Amino acid sequence: MKGVFIRDCSIGGKGGYSVFCKEGRIISIEAGMVPPSGTEVIDANGGSLFPGFIDSHCHPFEYGWLKRSVDLRGTTNMTAVRLRVVAGIQRAKPGEWVSGMGWDQEAFPGKAMPTRAEIDDISPQNPVVLSRVCGHIALLNSRSIESLGLKDRVGEEYERGEDGGLTGIVKERALEEVYDKLPRSAERSAADLQSVEAEAGRFGLTTLHCIVSRESFQEELGALAALCTSGSLSLRYRVYVPPEALDYIEATDIGKKLAGPRVRINGVKIYADGSLGARTAALREPYSDDPTNTGILRYTDEQLSELVEGVDSRGMQAIIHAIGDRAIEQAAEALGRVAGGNNPHGHRIEHASLLPRDLRSKMARHSIRATVQPLFITSDSWAVDRLGVERARDLYPLNSMLAEGIVASGSSDSPIESMSPILGMWAGLTRGGADSREKLSLDQALALYTVSARSNGLDSPEGLSEGAAADLTLLDSDISSMHPALFRKVGVLATIVDGTAVHSYGTA
Ligand SMILES: [Zn+2]
Repeated sequence: MKGVFIRDCSIGGKGGYSVFCKEGRIISIEAGMVPPSGTEVIDANGGSLFPGFIDSHCHPFEYGWLKRSVDLRGTTNMTAVRLRVVAGIQRAKPGEWVSGMGWDQEAFPGKAMPTRAEIDDISPQNPVVLSRVCGHIALLNSRSIESLGLKDRVGEEYERGEDGGLTGIVKERALEEVYDKLPRSAERSAADLQSVEAEAGRFGLTTLHCIVSRESFQEELGALAALCTSGSLSLRYRVYVPPEALDYIEATDIGKKLAGPRVRINGVKIYADGSLGARTAALREPYSDDPTNTGILRYTDEQLSELVEGVDSRGMQAIIHAIGDRAIEQAAEALGRVAGGNNPHGHRIEHASLLPRDLRSKMARHSIRATVQPLFITSDSWAVDRLGVERARDLYPLNSMLAEGIVASGSSDSPIESMSPILGMWAGLTRGGADSREKLSLDQALALYTVSARSNGLDSPEGLSEGAAADLTLLDSDISSMHPALFRKVGVLATIVDGTAVHSYGTA
């Protein structure tokens, strides 16, 4: 191994540095160094160098799957949805399942939830499942309702219209059952991951905190193990499994295979509630635009506590999806009980979206960590409708969280948002132009995707120093004094993982 040499980069706002890496480590950081012969030289031309960027909550397998199914992101009416579904059906055989993801009724005229009647005529022979952009609810056509035998199901998770019939909208745990029954293929998992990994590398990401799915965890863990053993992975993975996978991990040797510095199973992801967009996030008070609805809690307080205790007693990290204030309260209570004051296993709340002061103090008191998605701030433009002006002030209070001592890291929740950490930081810096005390400074935004993300993934918080791991992200500009609005245009010149350039534009 000859090593990588980065010439003329800026570190901490000071230019003229060269950095030499070899065998996975930073060997030297100096001004005016000459590259050792035979090294790969990357010309930074004054661009800023950082410890490798990390996405601390994403679903790469799901994103890979989405890339080859019907992608409905960006559609603004049902005609566009129908056109893309028709194209998907044309690629499928009669009777074959067609799945897609990404519609958002908030972008449609009238903002009404779609119904199965709007897709039945284009899909007489194929069962169709189209999940909303949040992944917490989906639209099913009549063919799939029939083949899954859902016609007589009752409960808040099966939406019914005025005529009493199913509208085709299925929510939360009822939707998990739907996905359990969909056919899937083991060999696709590895290819899906690799296509996402290449894109993530171009975005400057060196590590992904990878959420493995409930319905395909065996295939996904198997793909990670196979790619890791053959040395085919370019990024690092910190893996979070569903509770259903714990018995499988204990009964097989998969846990041992996924316990190295490249891929490591860290913990267990638990869903406490749904999403604000789908009105399934669990709130203390009803939705402002649906006064009979307070959302859906997946578990009782006792059930959630029991799950958390099971994870904690295994020495694993519990990470709980909680968006509404009621769900965050439940999660903080369950985690606080096992975390004590210093939270030795690093338990986290994912999203922690509607976070009033009392819940922030509770999280800080128990050192409960958080992962946040700054791009949700700019995407959830309709949030005031759901919550009212008063409550919406406590939505994504990123600056207050950090100021009050919560360790928070940044993420995309991909495929929900773009994996680009540059866009994530930009959203944290600008909040989409809204005047807000919750805007972050550049240092805070960078920490979300570097040191805090390392710490939230149970890795030592090393920065740029000699001897540290050579996981590095090189940007194309010196960003130290850049106007926040320009930040979204910054490019990634090189991504280095374990001393190897996995993406580079600037090789001399
Ligand atoms: Zn997620």
